[in-house]
Amino acid sequence: MSGDSKESLQDRLARARQAIARRGSGSAATPAVQSPLRPRRGLEDLPGIAAFEAQMDGVAAMGLASPYFHARHSANGASIRIDDRELLNFSGYNYLGLSGHPEVAGAAKAAIDLYGTSASASRPVSGEIPLHGELERGLASALQVEDALAFVSGYGTNVSTVGHLFGPNDLVIHDSLAHSSVLSGCLLSGARRLAFPHNDVAALDALLAEHRPRCERAVILVEGVYSMDGDIAPLDRLIEMKRRHDAAIMVDEAHSIGVLGAHGYGIGEHFHVNRADVDIWMGTLSKTLASCGGYIAGSRRLIEYLRYTTPGFIYSVGLSPPDCAAALAALRIMRREPERVDQLRRRSAFFAEKIREHRLDTGASAGSAVVPVIIGASMQTLRVAQRLFERGINVHPIIYPATEEGKARLRFFLSALHSEDDLQRAANAVADAVATVKKQDGA
Ligand code: PMP
Repeated sequence: MSGDSKESLQDRLARARQAIARRGSGSAATPAVQSPLRPRRGLEDLPGIAAFEAQMDGVAAMGLASPYFHARHSANGASIRIDDRELLNFSGYNYLGLSGHPEVAGAAKAAIDLYGTSASASRPVSGEIPLHGELERGLASALQVEDALAFVSGYGTNVSTVGHLFGPNDLVIHDSLAHSSVLSGCLLSGARRLAFPHNDVAALDALLAEHRPRCERAVILVEGVYSMDGDIAPLDRLIEMKRRHDAAIMVDEAHSIGVLGAHGYGIGEHFHVNRADVDIWMGTLSKTLASCGGYIAGSRRLIEYLRYTTPGFIYSVGLSPPDCAAALAALRIMRREPERVDQLRRRSAFFAEKIREHRLDTGASAGSAVVPVIIGASMQTLRVAQRLFERGINVHPIIYPATEEGKARLRFFLSALHSEDDLQRAANAVADAVATVKKQDGA
């Protein structure tokens, strides 16, 4: 290499450094390609705002009250107090009735007295309290894996973990009904993203055969219980797929912890699989575990790496003392009283059976704590929900665009605390409300 060319290389490097510095300081550095001029618009011109308002206007024009944001004045249990009315409740995922349980509330209060209401720092700094480790060891032991890590949000757990672990050379392949938080994590990762048709293992096999060879790492992302339909992932066959294609698998157990398996330990217990066959177990603390937050569980090496590097963990405050204590107490009760899990399962099956006796459609529900009643049109579904609300039953309508039009539904979340009488009454009321609304429409 001549002296001259060495010199010009250094010049070029210096110019590049200056350009990067200018860009970083927000100065006049402009991208090489100029984007076309666009009409200026304000934030409130967002097309989504107009579409949203049109939908809300449509609901109001039909004389229907919004079914959203009703403030309650009680725990979110088998019954609920809204304004001055006591309603039978199917709108909360307090599956084992542990939110509102005195032992859970007592543990949260004691933690506040000892540690304050907030962790007041990220855990690596000074947010760590002994309860964090206790909760994580408890989760790992219930899930039969080596370690676990607790985050402040279930949603954020998925976004941050998937976004952190995978990158542009990887393939993330998720069930078409995967939760929004999983999709956000996939987008953040920059990985190649594919969806396979819901629970269709053959389609997953074909997609992996085609796309796996061109990617470094591949991960299959599924849920234990799907919260719109109440059906479950075929975990044993999915594990076979991951082996066949040398992929990893991540299972979101938001709706299967406390619900599936003899002790409520989730879909791994339900299928009796070796828990180490699932690379990443994810769950929330906000459902069965009566708190707020999420967790990742798996091998010690993976969890230790996440503990020191996951942005949503290290740059976020630690799980609050009362949330941590509540989840730990709920986990303890779940382990001590497996009869709650059994009761939930029996009640869910009972309710699904009563609904079907009325010739109503419960879709693919496996009778596992989430039982949809598919009505069809969104507006009819809203009217059925409102009728039920007026008759003392709180159940939420899931309408377009949360579900495809024609598949709008009432989604019943069951709790171990519901009695058979409650469920019989609810099933009869649903049948009655559906018949009335369809009759009004001449259907
Ligand atoms: N995963 C699934 C499957 C969920 O249904 C939800 C929320 N219901 C989340 C993750 C997010 O959990 P959280 O509400 O605890 O943030």
